[in-house]
Amino acid sequence: TPSILPPPTSRKTSFSGRVPAGIARRRLRIVVTGGAGFVGSHLVDKLISRGDEVIVIDNFFTGRKENLVHLFGNPGFELIRHDVVEPILLEVDQIYHLACPASPVHYKYNPTNVMGTLNMLGLAKRVGARFLLTSTSEVYGDPLEHPQKETYWGNVNPIGERSCYDEGKRTAETLAMDYHRGAGVEVRIARIFNTYGPRMCLDDGRVVGNFVAQAIRKQPLTVYGDGKQTRSFQYVSDLVDGLVALMEGEHVGPFNLGNPGEFTMLELAEVVKETIDSSATIEFRPNTADDPHKRKPDISKAKELLNWEPKISLRDGLPLMVNDFRNRILNEDEGKGL
Ligand code: NAD
Ligand code: UDP
Ligand code: UDP
Repeated sequence: TPSILPPPTSRKTSFSGRVPAGIARRRLRIVVTGGAGFVGSHLVDKLISRGDEVIVIDNFFTGRKENLVHLFGNPGFELIRHDVVEPILLEVDQIYHLACPASPVHYKYNPTNVMGTLNMLGLAKRVGARFLLTSTSEVYGDPLEHPQKETYWGNVNPIGERSCYDEGKRTAETLAMDYHRGAGVEVRIARIFNTYGPRMCLDDGRVVGNFVAQAIRKQPLTVYGDGKQTRSFQYVSDLVDGLVALMEGEHVGPFNLGNPGEFTMLELAEVVKETIDSSATIEFRPNTADDPHKRKPDISKAKELLNWEPKISLRDGLPLMVNDFRNRILNEDEGKGL
């Protein structure tokens, strides 16, 4: 089929001349799709601070300019408002592909996982860039194996309410492996488990953000179902370290990136109470359909091959997001004239 795109070009090296004297590694040009979001913006901070050039592509569906505003004016940083569902031409060395409507209230809405991933793989193929996909523990569905190893194929409902996300990411993994095998693209696949930290969306329905915001607003913590379902919560800086180790390493993956510390939602509510407001109350609500009963990563593979493991426990990490949440909630209230 005729293509709107020019033929493959050789890998760009024109910026190698700008490497400051005394620094051995060539400065890389890196795309981060979804870089205005929660995880993406922390990743961009790390890449910029080690001296690389970063181009963020984001359509601001759930991301915010505020997450990146401190980088405006930095000569190593560019921000492009663009929907990855549409093709784009860039010359880059690495692509971190995070763009995705990533929370229950948002992820039903568009075909980003399939079309966006295809376009970024097409881009990686054309310019010879290395491509990292941020997949998810949701590819394991409601797992019948516990904890989950990367070899587990999952237990996913293909027609349920969550399937747009789970199956979208499973398809994205398939596309990445096809481009790897068929076109020789250097791919890296991360399966990310529940992650929290500053800049998380305030109201996107994810449990840590919900509980922390509720405790600050003096509202009851909403526990869905009986609260005995489990998740394993990872602090965002641990994840970012893992993503970079994966990108820089020699292994395709998939790799589980998560913190193996497992908590029920009732235990999480207790930690939030201890951290923010011991008088907070709990309110039970009906659970959503197809909610996985338990989830905990087996991270032996990442430990062994990437030399990576999380360093920050839930009790140490939660306090690190409270100021950011307090400030944003305060600003919102001021905006409403309260
Ligand atoms: P987020 O919603 O904060 O960030 C996603 C970003 O992608 C946002 O900035 C959004 O505006 C952008 N985006 C969405 N659709 C787009 C499109 N079509 N074109 C361009 N930009 C688009 O979510 P996050 O928590 O930072 O998640 C980042 C990635 O990590 C996602 O791929 C998500 O699936 C994955 N992940 C996150 C977690 C977690 O717990 N945070 C767990 C598993 C996987
Ligand atoms: N693509 C893109 N930027 C590029 C190269 C490709 O957005 O630099 C898109 C392209 O428009 C297509 C997708 O990536 O929709 C897959 O590209 P590929 O070349 O693999 O497939 P083809 O165009 O041959 O179907
Ligand atoms: N959950 C909850 N209260 C909330 C939001 C979520 O009890 O206010 C529960 C939800 O039912 C699920 C768990 O917390 O069992 C994790 O939900 P989240 O959407 O954060 O992540 P995911 O289900 O994608 O792992």
